[in-house]
Parts: sequence; C-alpha cells; structure tokens
Amino acid sequence: MPILSINPVTGQIFDSFPLWSDETIDSTLSRVVTAYAYWSALDIEQRAVYMHNLAQVLRQRRDDYAQLITEEMGKLLKEARAEIDKCALGCEHYAGHAKTYLAEEIIDSDASRSGVIYQPLGTLLCIMPWNFPFWQLIRAAVPAMMAGNTVVLKHASNVPRCALALEEAFREAGFPENAFRTLMISATQAEKVIADPRIAAVTLTGSSAAGRKVAAIAGQHLKKCVLELGGSDPFIVLEDADLEFTVSQAVSARFQNMGQSCIAAKRFILVEGIADLFLEHFKTLVSQLRMGDPKDESTTIAPMARVDLRDALHAQIERSLAMGAILVAGGETIGTQGAYYAPTILDRVYPGMPAFDEELFGPVAAIVRVRNTEEAIQLANQTPFGLGGSVWTRNIAHGEAITRRLLVGAAFVNGIVKSDPRLPFGGIKASGFGRELSYHGIREFVNIKTIWVG
Ligand code: NAP
Repeated sequence: MPILSINPVTGQIFDSFPLWSDETIDSTLSRVVTAYAYWSALDIEQRAVYMHNLAQVLRQRRDDYAQLITEEMGKLLKEARAEIDKCALGCEHYAGHAKTYLAEEIIDSDASRSGVIYQPLGTLLCIMPWNFPFWQLIRAAVPAMMAGNTVVLKHASNVPRCALALEEAFREAGFPENAFRTLMISATQAEKVIADPRIAAVTLTGSSAAGRKVAAIAGQHLKKCVLELGGSDPFIVLEDADLEFTVSQAVSARFQNMGQSCIAAKRFILVEGIADLFLEHFKTLVSQLRMGDPKDESTTIAPMARVDLRDALHAQIERSLAMGAILVAGGETIGTQGAYYAPTILDRVYPGMPAFDEELFGPVAAIVRVRNTEEAIQLANQTPFGLGGSVWTRNIAHGEAITRRLLVGAAFVNGIVKSDPRLPFGGIKASGFGRELSYHGIREFVNIKTIWVG
C-alpha cells in the first residue's frame, strides 16, 4: 500500500507515495550515520546557528506549511498557523538554551576533579502522530539535534506531505546533508528500523497501543525510548469556579484541534453545586461552534483527520450510550463526504463506560458528576492514563493543593493544559514515560557521562 495524502474535507486523494524499499532505507541510514560524525563534532553554538535558521525558514514559509497541515489533516488554518509559530519558538528556545541545559557540571567527590558531561547518543528515530504534524516532530527532534544527535523521522501515514515538507525545511535552513531525514515507511518497516544497529534510540508520540509495541522492540534491543502517549485529562470544576471563564476555557480545552489532542480536556468532572449551571452554559457555547471548511476564517469546527478515526469515535459514543450515558448534543456524523463529526456532549458518564475509561480522540466532552472535591480527585485519578489535568476554582491555594494529588505529568490551576518549551512535558501510567521540552527533554537522548580525575 502506498502512503496516501487524503483531504479530510472531501475524501479526495491529493497525492500518493510509494513505500521505500529495504535498500533505500539501508542506504539512507548509512548516510545519516555519516552525517552524525560531522554534526556531533560541531560545537553547540554552531548547531544553534542552524536552529535559528530553521526558525527563520518556518516563519518565512508559515503560510505554505499551515496550508499543507490544514489540507492534510484538516485542522483550522488559524490553528495550523499557530502551530508553525510555536515550532519557530521551540527552535529558538533550544538554540538559546541548549548550551546552559547541557553545561558540564562539576561535582565534588573523592576525585581531584569530577563531574558530568552530556554527549549525544547517535541517530534517533522519531515516530510521530498526525495531530500536530509539525510541532510534535520539532518538539522531539530539535532538542535531540541540539545535543548532537542526528534524526530520522517516521511520520504518521496520513501526513506524508508534511513529513516531506519538514525534511525540506531542514534543507532550506542549510543543515548538513542527512543530519535530518524523513523515511517514507510503514509502521511495520519502522519496527525493523528500531532494531537496526545504526539507530541508537527511539521516541514515539502516539497511542498507548503503538507505545506498547515500540517499547517492547526497543527493550528487546536495549535501546533508550521515550513514549508520549494518549491521555484522558480531567477538567475538575469546583463550586467556587468563575463560571463564565471556566466554561469558555472548557470549550477551547475540548474542541480545539477538533478535540484531537493528547492533552485535550476529556473528562469534565463537575462538583454537584455547579454541574447543572456549567452544563447549561457549556451546551450554549458548544451550539455556537460553526462547522465548515477549515480554510474559512469564520469556521470554528473542522473535520476530524480521517474517516476511520471518526467512525471509531462514534462507536465509543454508541457503546457509552448503551451503558447509560445521556446524549446532550451531537453524537452523529455530519454530511456524506469527509470526516465531519458533530461536537458532542455526553452527560452522566461513569467509570466502566468507554467515555470514561478510554481516550476519546475527537470532539466529545464527557460530563462526570460528583458529590464533592474528594470524589472529584478520586475519579480524576481513576483512569489508566496520566498525562495532564486541570482544576478550576477561585481558591488558588486549594486548587494548587489538588494539583499535587493528581496522578499526571502536568497539572494546571485555572488554565488549559498546554506545552511550553520552558516546562517539561510527558506522562505517567499508560500516557508514557520520559519527558520532552525544558532541560529534562534535552537530557533524554544523551550519554550522561561521569568524569573522574584522580
Ligand atoms: P498512532 O496510531 O499510535 O500512530 C502514531 C505513530 O506511530 C504513527 O507514525 C504510526 O504509523 C506509528 N506506529 C503505529 N504502530 C507502530 C508500530 N507497531 N511500530 C512503529 N510505529 C508504529 O497514533 P495517532 O493516531 O497518529 O495519534 C493519536 C494518538 O497520539 C493519541 O492517542 C494521542 O493522545 C497521542 N498523542 C500523544 C501526545 C503526547 O505528547 N503524549 C501528543 C500527540 C498525540 P502509521 O501512521 O503508519 O500507523
């Protein structure tokens, strides 16, 4: 099967790319290894110049890349532009901070001098998802490359043109040839690439199911891996929350990127005293979302990325309804072409239902009613996932105390869970392990080497 680029608005095929042969994969990996010798020997300031260039290319080509993202996976054009802006900022962040993040450390011991240096590992395989097709790769590859590693990308099969555009961006930024390469390969071929001795480590952003497979293969070959997987983030609303603000944030937290974000709020856990009022306002705002062409600036609800994902989401909703959840809005596919799905609200969602236990990767808000704060925390943590979570309350100290009890990698008070290059990002439990971003991220794919001088 070739890799197809399909318009999620119409279902029309834009382009088709043959999968690479074993020989092409082999020769490309050899070239990337050769490039590693040169790239890793540069000093970090030299690598920073390339990374600044990349930021510049991203800014200059912003509209082209945004258009491509929208065409290929369907997100709103304005969201795609914001994604490219974030990529440029990510490049600049690491260009500016990598040297400090990887500075040698002197540590007192029994030696005359001892400490730690950070050295690259080799070539990193980045296996990436389609939902933020530029940002996810930049977030994974840029720190690893600033540390001196070279990178090969296996992108999700529905975003091949984004995958090639990323390679082109590195080329336009003047990077040494083969320091970054896109491999046009399937998931099965990627499994073989993980095992290849020329690959030093692997990072996957994707579903927990893919994470299990990739981690097993990496484990078998004793290769370091980082896993950024799915989530079912709780959005806990306490009785003293600022209702208007909280509801408007809830709509963004659930429906931006058509709900297809790992850190989207997925379970809205509402304390009894505020639940009815919250739901009433939430329903009103959701009914005002405007579905349409993602390139149209007035559209606020885009199609989902693929018809098969839309249908899988619908099946999760149907199963939840069969178990007693109540349909408040949506719950249906829209139109006969493309991957449109109505913004959906399910009320009275409880543990045991797919809407509670599984990740709903699309525009569906699950409303969970609880009696009090303790029950809210308990249900927030009663999930296989542990990516992000938020608490909404006017009592900041109380909110912060709750964040400390959430079993997640990132907990927010009165703010939508988001990634920021200055702060670490990642999950626990079925949401994965390891961290991206900040100094934690750049230290994932390095040899943390002790130096001891007698
Ligand atoms: P996916 O189906 O798991 O695919 C992710 C990537 O893994 C794709 O490139 C896919 O390739 C590849 N893949 C799948 N199985 C593989 C295997 N056995 N060996 C090697 N590669 C394999 O996920 P998705 O639909 O693209 O993305 C949605 C998921 O990503 C959601 O669960 C979401 O929460 C998660 N996500 C997590 C984060 C985070 O930071 N934690 C961020 C964004 C998204 P093919 O496309 O060719 O199958």
